Amino acid sequence: MSTEKKFASQADLADKKISFDKLSEHAYAYTAEGDPNTGIVVGDNAVMVIDTQATPVMAQDVIRRIREVTDKPIRYVVLSHYHAVRVLGASAYGADHVISSRDTYELIRERGEQDMKSEIERFPRLFRAVESVPGLTWPTIVFDRRMTLMLGKLRVEIMQLGRGHTKGDTVVWLPDDRILFSGDLVEFDATPYTGDAYLADWPATLDAIAALKPEKLVPGRGAALTSPARVKAGLDGTRAFVTEMYGAVREGARAGKDLRTVYRETYERLKPRFGHWVIFDHCLPFDVTRAYDEATRYPDPRIWTAQRDKEMWQALEG
Ligand SMILES: [Zn+2]
Repeated sequence: MSTEKKFASQADLADKKISFDKLSEHAYAYTAEGDPNTGIVVGDNAVMVIDTQATPVMAQDVIRRIREVTDKPIRYVVLSHYHAVRVLGASAYGADHVISSRDTYELIRERGEQDMKSEIERFPRLFRAVESVPGLTWPTIVFDRRMTLMLGKLRVEIMQLGRGHTKGDTVVWLPDDRILFSGDLVEFDATPYTGDAYLADWPATLDAIAALKPEKLVPGRGAALTSPARVKAGLDGTRAFVTEMYGAVREGARAGKDLRTVYRETYERLKPRFGHWVIFDHCLPFDVTRAYDEATRYPDPRIWTAQRDKEMWQALEG
């Protein structure tokens, strides 16, 4: 392992190729080789966007693609969770409503400002034209556990199935088309970021997703999964990473090893199987730090600040 890794993803500068895939008459996936995805639902009378891209300027490319397939108004934005890279482009859509779970709303209130600053410094490429961000994105509709939205005849279920990537994780489910938008609860060929996660809870939440029996699934990062076998591969891969990473860290913590030692051992253990997934080197220091916290004395994720980010990186990679 290099001892001179540049902080987080400050050295990642190459743009990704964007795909805009039609999954059904009502569903599209905007994906970008492991960069954050956006989901699109086209109902009878309105369009819903699930996760917005990181800035209003970046969101313009999503809007351009939507306008190639429908001229219906974009009325709803759903936040799968609170992370800046997913939500700060919201203003571009001019939607009537921004929808989030109560837990996500509380996280935006509690730590949205710090998260915005920390994420922008971690991954500058993902915040193109960051000056176009008008500030935090605030929901206008906050739901508890579950809500149903009728887009004309199209039923859209917006649900919290359990904690995982964050405590506010929200999925969007089209029961008639059997299509699920998972946010970062599921990744495909991309390393799960678990810096704000509930690692012990995450597998049960994946079980709840599997129990819906989705035929297609749009993950938070990576290509759209367009068959039940691909959906299973996405769920299995995410579960394997989360359980192996947390298991390794918990074992080290219980043996009384310090964080830096546990980090090095976990990195070596996971690298052969998961090292080719995008952002592996970016995520692992944050992931192991949170896992160590959860395995020891912090049941809830601690707030990441730009300063805490750099101190952690120095401690583990310096
Ligand atoms: Zn996230």
